[in-house]
Amino acid sequence: MTARKKGTKEEPYDVVIVGARCAGAPLGMLLARRGYSVEIVDRNAAGADTLSTHWIRWPGVQRLRAWGLVTELEKTGCPPIVQACLDFEGRVLSGGPRAGGIEAATYAPRRTVLDALLVAEARASGARLRERFAVTGLIVTGGRVAGVRGVGPDGPADLHARVVVGADGRNSTVARLVESPAVEDRGILARSLYGYWSGIGEPGIRVVFRGRRGISLWPTHDGLTVVSLVFPPDQAPGRGPAALTEFYTSCLREVPEVGRALADADLVSPARAAAVRNARRRAHGPGWVLAGDAGHHKDPVSAQGISDAFADADGLADALDTGLSGAAGLDQALARHTATRDAHRLGTFAYTCEQAELRPFGADFLADLTRTAADEQAVEAFLNTFVGCDAPADAAWLGDSH
Ligand SMILES: Cc1cc2nc3c(=O)[nH]c(=O)nc-3n(C[C@H](O)[C@H](O)[C@H](O)COP(=O)(O)OP(=O)(O)OC[C@H]3O[C@@H](n4cnc5c(N)ncnc54)[C@H](O)[C@@H]3O)c2cc1C
Repeated sequence: MTARKKGTKEEPYDVVIVGARCAGAPLGMLLARRGYSVEIVDRNAAGADTLSTHWIRWPGVQRLRAWGLVTELEKTGCPPIVQACLDFEGRVLSGGPRAGGIEAATYAPRRTVLDALLVAEARASGARLRERFAVTGLIVTGGRVAGVRGVGPDGPADLHARVVVGADGRNSTVARLVESPAVEDRGILARSLYGYWSGIGEPGIRVVFRGRRGISLWPTHDGLTVVSLVFPPDQAPGRGPAALTEFYTSCLREVPEVGRALADADLVSPARAAAVRNARRRAHGPGWVLAGDAGHHKDPVSAQGISDAFADADGLADALDTGLSGAAGLDQALARHTATRDAHRLGTFAYTCEQAELRPFGADFLADLTRTAADEQAVEAFLNTFVGCDAPADAAWLGDSH
């Protein structure tokens, strides 16, 4: 007897996931590991570059470790980051963050490497991947989403599924097609520019806040350092690649501490620009659910998006398992998952918006930092918070799903 083709009306997939990156690929991996039939589709090729810097904070690294992927990531040549130097208007806190007494290594992998690794692991776990397939519509049966319609290299296709996951980023097609309303939209609060530099050679993270600008340096693959500049939307850099790069490099070099780090370095890429809305959407409905940036996105200033997308994949895999196995109703399981997710994310959402407003630091905060800088234990505690070693929301969320 020949196996029936999956994805048909008669033989739907358990889950079709739209988007094969930080939310979609690990979700596909986790569901396939539990024996569910999954197809992940993406309009791009797996591991194509995307607009993003790369720092994975400690909660995200913990998830990669739980999935067995930290060693794989290190094998790609991604340097572990064990030192951090934070400079707030000249108050400098530096040292090595620790989690439970051990060195808390974090990573800033190129997305071409990270996303390809996640997709490879999803496929090795049994998920199917359809690349260069753009979802353009949904199959709706009896008021429930029951699959996707799209176009790929082989022409148009319908893929039927018991659940469709929109892990398709902040401009989510799935969210648009189900007309998911924004629950909260704080708009664009900051802009950013980033580029890759050779010859910096600092092994740790450096973050410098001066005036209403924030600059971050993270070592990444190939001996390069990714350097990002965050600035208020009213500071206009001008139009066109040359103007952007000129604004970017002059803002960096204006800060002596950064200028010194860049003294013998070369910018090896054009500056890339981004402006991200801070918004949350209703994230589930009959037969559909959103994961990662599709449901909740925010300014990159807090470097939370990758870790949050991993957390969504973890929590949603549990919820889908509960619903698809019949342990509870699918819609109830998804409703519970999104309510828990929202509760855990409200804090980081509010904190990110506050950071993205780039308001000048108050005198009390700076005086506190001066005291902190003089106390070794207080410095370590501050750095731990910065990398997320002590993140109460993430720790609670991790507890939910492990
Ligand atoms: C400038 C910038 C810097 C950032 N820096 C950091 C950082 O340092 N650390 C951090 O944690 N986060 C950072 N982020 C945030 C991070 O990039 C996102 O949170 C993360 O990529 C979200 O992953 P995702 O899988 O939800 O969505 P995405 O990475 O956006 O992936 C969505 C995928 O869906 C696919 N897709 C979309 N529409 C369709 C369709 N119709 N059909 C088929 N496929 C479709 C896309 O091709 C894409 O591959 C940054 C973001 C920006 C913009």
